[in-house]
Amino acid sequence: MRGLFALAALFVAVLGKETFEGHQVLRITAKDDVQLSLIKDLEDLIGLELDFWRGVTDVASPVDVRVPFHSLQSVKIYLETQDIEYSIMIKDLQAILDEEQKEMVSVPRFGQPRNTDSFDYASYHTLSEIYSFQDMLVAENPNMVSKIVIGQSYEGRPLNVLKFSTGGTNRPAIWIDTGIHSREWVTQASGTWFAKKIVTDYGRDPALTAILDNMDIFLEIVTNPDGFYYTHNTNRMWRKTRKPNSGSMCVGVDPNRNWDAGFGEAGASSSPCSETYRGPRANSESEVKSIVDFVKSHGNIKAFVSIHSYSQMLLYPYGYTRTPAKDEAELHELARKAITDLASLYGTRYRYGSIITTIYQASGGTIDWTYEQGIKYSYTFELRDTGRYGFILPANQIIPTAEETWLALMAIMDHTFKNPY
Ligand SMILES: [Zn+2]
Repeated sequence: MRGLFALAALFVAVLGKETFEGHQVLRITAKDDVQLSLIKDLEDLIGLELDFWRGVTDVASPVDVRVPFHSLQSVKIYLETQDIEYSIMIKDLQAILDEEQKEMVSVPRFGQPRNTDSFDYASYHTLSEIYSFQDMLVAENPNMVSKIVIGQSYEGRPLNVLKFSTGGTNRPAIWIDTGIHSREWVTQASGTWFAKKIVTDYGRDPALTAILDNMDIFLEIVTNPDGFYYTHNTNRMWRKTRKPNSGSMCVGVDPNRNWDAGFGEAGASSSPCSETYRGPRANSESEVKSIVDFVKSHGNIKAFVSIHSYSQMLLYPYGYTRTPAKDEAELHELARKAITDLASLYGTRYRYGSIITTIYQASGGTIDWTYEQGIKYSYTFELRDTGRYGFILPANQIIPTAEETWLALMAIMDHTFKNPY
């Protein structure tokens, strides 16, 4: 098997991009706990090279899994033999990836953007395009926006954070990050839109203006730049960091299992080949450690929002333990308000609750750590959709997704501003 992986890696190195010809995404629904554990058994069959887009949780939630062409027949026979129900969500993954690529190369529709007004927010962009967007935004708004480099990725890329501030020193602050899982493209695209929205709305929207007159906002758009670069150039389905694992052919750590909160407990994998590999130790990934250092040295962050896709959920701590967060009642009520605001725009429906009760047990997650640091308003979003396109959300949904999410973000930021602690 190792030889096969190596061979596949070699082909990618020679031929460029990995293709997903004939890969299907199956939605599997368990009838009972017996079927659930049979589905779970699939996770351990590494030779099948399955990629769980939505992991195994409970009988009520379907599992989405990408199945490579070479494993399709055996997986389908396995499911049918056990009488487990499934449907085909994506019939040929490469076909929708080709569609996504076509839309990207037809860009720039208006030539290379010279400023953030002519930037095409309705398209997906490469890492260098987002980096230059950030620099343009800073240059256009020198009194409000600055760029902080909080560290370097494993491959040496800058970890850029935009700081929105109207003055003061070490004001209470709100943190937002997108793209810590690199393949969740709608998140980096939304982050870019949020950045522009903040400078546009300041002085126009009274609620945002009041927030920014008293607080700072930090926004890390490309939180996993090595992974993001890799999704554009080699493997669109890459989720983890790009740091090699000693003693393994498999690369990368799940940066949402690498935080020092319940690290190593159930809800993360100890196998370097897993998509949820927690890493050799907490904070082993510089993409995580840089945020940890920043949060600690800042010392005055009051809300922390980490944005993922997909599933349409708004989640709060905890993920690693069933013990409810001590602020659960308030976090729950604020989540309800936020998703109600979100739904008011396009009717997009979200589920909400703690991570462990709403999705599954996940240890070493971002917001469990920030919550234990004393950041009360710690939230994670899972943006659109619920699986029709999954990670390959069509670009024409970027702006609607960003717009509706902004309403939920405003609810959280406004509440944080009005409830100092
Ligand atoms: Zn994610």
